[in-house]
Amino acid sequence: MAQKEEAAAAAAVAEPASQNGEDLENLEDPEKLKELIELPPFEIVTGERLPAHYFKFQFRNVEYSSGRNKTFLCYVVEAQNKGGQVQASRGYLEDEHAAAHAEEAFFNSIMPTFDPALRYLVTWYVSSSPCAACADRIVKTLNKTKNLRLLILVGRLFMWEEPEVQAALRKLKEAGCRLRIMKPQDFEFIWQNFVEQEEGESKAFEPWEDIQENFLYYEEKLADILK
Ligand SMILES: [Zn+2]
Repeated sequence: MAQKEEAAAAAAVAEPASQNGEDLENLEDPEKLKELIELPPFEIVTGERLPAHYFKFQFRNVEYSSGRNKTFLCYVVEAQNKGGQVQASRGYLEDEHAAAHAEEAFFNSIMPTFDPALRYLVTWYVSSSPCAACADRIVKTLNKTKNLRLLILVGRLFMWEEPEVQAALRKLKEAGCRLRIMKPQDFEFIWQNFVEQEEGESKAFEPWEDIQENFLYYEEKLADILK
């Protein structure tokens, strides 16, 4: 899976406009490779709701995530004051061109707005689990931010066969981060709360054929890694 992820990531970077993952052949094209090198530095896209076709492609919990090089991160921030009042906000982040990651973007652009006097419960719904570097950043952030609790729900496990990634996921757990694989209901929650709903379009979430099976597949892998 690691090799497939990497090849897929390179292919999708070569053709950033593509959302369907069918541009693997572009890797053979020298012009495309040149474009790849000349791409601008990464940009973070933020918004309240993501387009439906992004969701349908990027969040699908396939076993082999061909073409899915981006990380989409939907977040819910619940801030509680001493009186117990809770205020919630939400949005999503996506990373582009793989030079920095959506998890980092959350720490750089959302967390600085946090009030140290409040307590925060943050929930992330991420298309795939963090890479080792992001997991490390999460651990460091949790260790120094005592008013933060983090729950991460992921659609897929990213490069889970790599010992380095497995160790990073275990460190996350030790740091108090709760990590779960998204259930079909969680995908439905994202659909309802984070995906643009066009006028006249059905709002009902349509689960894909293997959604439950893939959830169970990844859940078993994660349990093995964390035990
Ligand atoms: Zn990362």
